Amino acid sequence: MTSEHRDADRIEGGRRPLLIGGITPFSTVDWPGKLACVAFLAGCPWRCPYCQNHILQSFSAAQQSEADLFAFLDERRGLLDGVVFSGGEPLAQQVVIEAAAQAKAMGFEVGLHTCGGYPERLQQMLPYLDWVGVDIKAPWGSYDRITRVAGSAEPVRQSLEVLLGAHIPFETRTTWHPSLLSPTDIATIADELASRGVRSWAIQAYRHTGTTGELEDETVYPSDVPEGLDELFEHFEFRRA
Ligand code: SF4
Repeated sequence: MTSEHRDADRIEGGRRPLLIGGITPFSTVDWPGKLACVAFLAGCPWRCPYCQNHILQSFSAAQQSEADLFAFLDERRGLLDGVVFSGGEPLAQQVVIEAAAQAKAMGFEVGLHTCGGYPERLQQMLPYLDWVGVDIKAPWGSYDRITRVAGSAEPVRQSLEVLLGAHIPFETRTTWHPSLLSPTDIATIADELASRGVRSWAIQAYRHTGTTGELEDETVYPSDVPEGLDELFEHFEFRRA
């Protein structure tokens, strides 16, 4: 965790407002089956080479305030199913839990996109959550190669346990760039998830647009997926990230 991330957890003189990089008013793709607005929160401690929101990795990317989000939600009561907290990594800010509670109290369903790096905060946020999408970056033994942060697999394992013990729907998803994960890696991820009882997994083919350009503009196709993996899950999907 960088000093910037430690500082973002401090609240001086009261509750620190949520740092929001941007708000998408309407989305049908960020929460399957729901019409939701998406709040992209600033800050993420990891540095995945395919990050499409790398501008949001720093807390200083905040452009909008929590007041903006709730003013927007206030006007959209009855018009939206819910709000998705995305990022960056939403749980990098403890105050997202209070924001979720507030949105829930206003009558909105609440979704969360997370890298799984904050299992305790995820547990605390559960009472206000209706759906979670959690990234699975790599086989457990290769995690740090993608996140470029030491010890990053363990909190994700714990987050998965939190979700498996909760009574809300969630999906796991893996972004696949051919230079980062081999078909064998993909098969290993599938086995590791299925053996823990995960029922929903999506492969998201790498998309070059919006990244730093660090990786080659290559991607993968459904025919690259090892045979039989879809049968390990109740719901399996190959999608463009
Ligand atoms: S965890 Fe997500 S937001 Fe953070 S660097 Fe990786 S892809 Fe980007």
